[in-house]
Amino acid sequence: MKRNQPEESVRKALGSRARLRAYILANVGRVLDSVELRKASGDASEWGRRVRELRTEEGYQILTHNDRSDLKPGEYLLLDPKPIPAFARGISKETRAYVLDRNGFTCQMCGAEAGQPHPADSSRITRLHIGHIIDKSMGGTDDPGNLRAVCSICNEGAKNLTLDRPSLMKLLIQIRRATGADQLAVLKWLLAKYPAQSAKLLSNAEK
Ligand SMILES: [Zn+2]
Repeated sequence: MKRNQPEESVRKALGSRARLRAYILANVGRVLDSVELRKASGDASEWGRRVRELRTEEGYQILTHNDRSDLKPGEYLLLDPKPIPAFARGISKETRAYVLDRNGFTCQMCGAEAGQPHPADSSRITRLHIGHIIDKSMGGTDDPGNLRAVCSICNEGAKNLTLDRPSLMKLLIQIRRATGADQLAVLKWLLAKYPAQSAKLLSNAEK
């Protein structure tokens, strides 16, 4: 059977990226030039793209002349072999601190507090991540307005949410975050949609 073209090119790209990663990790702290990186990658035309992928997709802080004035164009330097975790990439320490503080160090999906046992699983201590309200794959940005504190458990679950129908919890969070005027608009809309149920709820509330 003949292998199809895209699969072959993906395999090639991953192979040269892996060779570059290994080479750069074997040379932490040494300034590398484009000649040796091109050679190490085994890909003369796309090696620069592979370096960028190591930075953007894998989180390796490979420095260039844009990051450090003592590096010349075409020179690369990795000082810390540990990649930045995906959730933190592109978001500064200051922004993380600001978002966590704004959200009261509380998961904005389930209300779990940082450092406390998680309400859904008391064997786990709540750890907060910075999550995107609109996912980056859907065009969301790293702007603080698009960020929120999310615990590990919700963060894992969020990946499984379908896009077309929001969960009750997600919906309630959206409404809680909305302005008073928008909340009242939602209330009006619901009262109009469910007149009988509204009347019943309101008469029960008065008792
Ligand atoms: Zn949560």
